Amino acid sequence: MSQRQLALILGDQLSFNLPSLQALNPARDLVLLAEVHEEASHVPHHPQKIAFIFSAMRHFAEALRSRGYQVHYVTLDDPANSGSLLDELQRQLAAEPFAAIHLCETGDWRVEKSLKDADLPITWHADTRFLCSRERFAAWAAGKKQLRMEFFYREQRKRLNILLNPDGTPVGGAWNFDADNRQALPKNAKPPYPLRVAPDAITEEVLALVRQRFSHHYGTLDDFHYPVTHADAERLWGYFLDHGLAAFGDYQDAMACDEPYLFHARISAALNIGLLDVRQLISDVEAAYWAGRVPLNAAEGFIRQLLGWREYVRGIYWLHMPDYAHRNALDGQRALPAFYWTGQTRMRCLEQAIGQTLQTAYAHHIQRLMVTGNFALLIGVAPPQLCDWYLAVYMDAFDWVELPNTLGMVLHADGGYLGSKPYCSSGQYIKRMSDYCQGCAYDVRDSTGSNACPFNALYWHFLMRQRPRLGKNPRLAMPYRTLDKMADSKRQALWARGETLLAKLDSGEAL
Ligand code: FAD
Ligand code: SF4
Repeated sequence: MSQRQLALILGDQLSFNLPSLQALNPARDLVLLAEVHEEASHVPHHPQKIAFIFSAMRHFAEALRSRGYQVHYVTLDDPANSGSLLDELQRQLAAEPFAAIHLCETGDWRVEKSLKDADLPITWHADTRFLCSRERFAAWAAGKKQLRMEFFYREQRKRLNILLNPDGTPVGGAWNFDADNRQALPKNAKPPYPLRVAPDAITEEVLALVRQRFSHHYGTLDDFHYPVTHADAERLWGYFLDHGLAAFGDYQDAMACDEPYLFHARISAALNIGLLDVRQLISDVEAAYWAGRVPLNAAEGFIRQLLGWREYVRGIYWLHMPDYAHRNALDGQRALPAFYWTGQTRMRCLEQAIGQTLQTAYAHHIQRLMVTGNFALLIGVAPPQLCDWYLAVYMDAFDWVELPNTLGMVLHADGGYLGSKPYCSSGQYIKRMSDYCQGCAYDVRDSTGSNACPFNALYWHFLMRQRPRLGKNPRLAMPYRTLDKMADSKRQALWARGETLLAKLDSGEAL
């Protein structure tokens, strides 16, 4: 038996400090990376997402070689490529009987199960790139009647001593400054032009390959400018620290026509595949606050996204998979409207959010939650259809993070781990937080006319339809009271308009 050991590194595990990589002796052992068709196509991933991951993998392989590692890299167009991760691993093992095989916990239950079911002598390593291990989260959740992100987040702040006074209380006297973070974009605000990274020769080669193999997937490859190396991802991060973070808090929830990024960091894709280190990001943001460079609502708001939401959704995913993926607490059964794949709708908010997604494989949180997500919630889309869409179209989408956000936060299909009530709203929220409604074909002030904003009637239709499930939710008491105070004729008109809109969607018509 060979003394050599093998580590299989997946496309979202491109970190030098990955435990499975650290377990190797670089001069003796082998690292295996494989671009496989199965992972690129089990949902129709955005071509820019495929290009991003393959190019980052190729750059990582080069970086490992320059650090003295021996790397076997299987490209997608290698004639011997079997097309699946497991088969590529088996092929490598057939060529050489390794003394040990190292793998790090994956970001997808499906992938981890297929590798575990194969009955190979794999040494599994925890993914230490996260701040809260699967076990720590399970211990935190054990015995609790209700799981809430806010309490998890406070505990992480205390455990890791982040933004605390010397006596352990939160800086600024509160754990959360969300109330300050809900401003619409003022007319004269100038979001920083996003940092663009020009594709190098490796990326150009990958772009050509993806164009050839995946041009039938939705989304354009035309303007790929995302970082694919650690150094460029750090440049993107530095750019955000200098130009975006100070205003991040204030305009975190704002939306604006033809402004896809506003004051957001755009780092999620790089972070999720390992080009950035979450500990460093949190420490940089905290340092910027202590140095007086950014206000507390920005620093705390940003840290809450990383230390709170990001770690929490991962915890929920691993705590409840695999049955989590089948939950459907609000019984959504409707097909996803076809315009989600094309952006061809007269609703300007959806046209903007989907159009920019097809163009850039990016939309910021509020677009995902309160535009594409809210609409899908109101019309009752079947969770698997919506989850597949989010998994396919966003460059940062991996199962552990996409699924709880979509199934849980957007569709409330898990019964409430990601929010104590569904994030449902009428067109009024979109009007308040964006300039989308100006120039929309629909009238946001109207709810029942033939040209009324579809979100308005669909919102009330949703509340009426879901009354048996949501009517006793204390956080929805106010809208239900408003509904009850309405004249019967108004309620009936809202219901009728909702029915008309849903019938149109069911007949395949775009709104
Ligand atoms: P910023 O707004 O600048 O936020 C900073 C960082 O905080 C993000 O980069 C991200 O790492 C983290 N973060 C913020 N909110 C969340 C959250 N709810 N869950 C996890 N991390 C969070 N994020 C993904 O990384 N992958 C996904 O597949 C994904 N799917 C989503 C689906 C839906 C329906 C919704 C509502 C949200 C989803 N998010 C997902 C969370 C969030 O929308 C993105 O992380 C964010 O838009 C990425 O852009 P940014 O880097 O500019 O983030
Ligand atoms: Fe969206 Fe309604 Fe506003 Fe049009 S009027 S942009 S559909 S919220």
